[in-house]
Amino acid sequence: MIDLHTHSTVSDGSDPPERIPELAAAAGCRAVALTDHDSLAGLGAARARAAELGITLVPGCEISCHFPGVGSAHVLCYFVEDDGGPLAEELILLRGDRRQRNLRLAARLEELGLPVTYADAVAEAGTEEGMGRPHFAAAMVKAGVAVDIQDAFDRFLSAGRPAYVRKSRLVPADVARLATASGGVAVLAHPFSLGLEGADLASAVEALAGWGFAGIEAVYGRYSPRQRQELGNLARRFGLVATGGSDYHGTIKPDLAVGTGRGDLKVPDKVLVELEGRRPAA
Ligand code: AMP
Ligand code: ZN
Ligand code: FE
Ligand code: FE
Repeated sequence: MIDLHTHSTVSDGSDPPERIPELAAAAGCRAVALTDHDSLAGLGAARARAAELGITLVPGCEISCHFPGVGSAHVLCYFVEDDGGPLAEELILLRGDRRQRNLRLAARLEELGLPVTYADAVAEAGTEEGMGRPHFAAAMVKAGVAVDIQDAFDRFLSAGRPAYVRKSRLVPADVARLATASGGVAVLAHPFSLGLEGADLASAVEALAGWGFAGIEAVYGRYSPRQRQELGNLARRFGLVATGGSDYHGTIKPDLAVGTGRGDLKVPDKVLVELEGRRPAA
């Protein structure tokens, strides 16, 4: 088995990057992807540890973008290296946007009269680099304005809630183009987050295929067997790889383990072979 979706302290996970391959190997995975938000900075440490353990590190990242007419979409990019390619260049801009968004988010919390500052979120994140909404959520829990991270999102931080500040500058086609130009592939993460179902979801997946996406994340840590099956069918219908992963974040999403998700995740090795087959010819 493999796991194609994990986060480390480089973004909003709670384990250092080298710990991810250790958890993957312990869970029985032959390969694991590190997919931090907007950054490739953990890949070196993760790859070195994976090599020691005799498993494969799939280099990756997760990028938020705006799906026209739909809303926010998360895209996983795989097989991209931190070598200054077009994707790595864009990630530098995205991290700048993230910082501006975080500053505006903090200003919004102050306007709302909530006792949570930018510095409080930095304290949760460890550093400003890779800081995001989950760190604000953790600070809000600590300050007693939310009971848990989900509550902080539901009442303040999610799209449409009072402390939400939009960040995405790219559309899915941009991400697919950047990934491909960097020798990699693009995959839609947790497709039900688009908020679509039935024919609308199918149209969105068809559009992604047209934009050069290689796959959709069908076997996701928090999806039911029925949802996974529906997404697998959609992937087949539009010629996409049905990928899978846990979206492990450590303590920020305590219900999800590397490799096994909520206990019932099992992504077969052949998914990685299929994904490799979608890489652009060198
Ligand atoms: P950011 O990139 O800083 O906007 O934050 C993205 C992170 O927030 C990801 O880890 C998401 O899983 C998490 N997140 C986004 N929306 C929600 C939500 N409604 N509930 C819980 N976590 C969320
Ligand atoms: Zn995250
Ligand atoms: Fe995501
Ligand atoms: Fe993720």
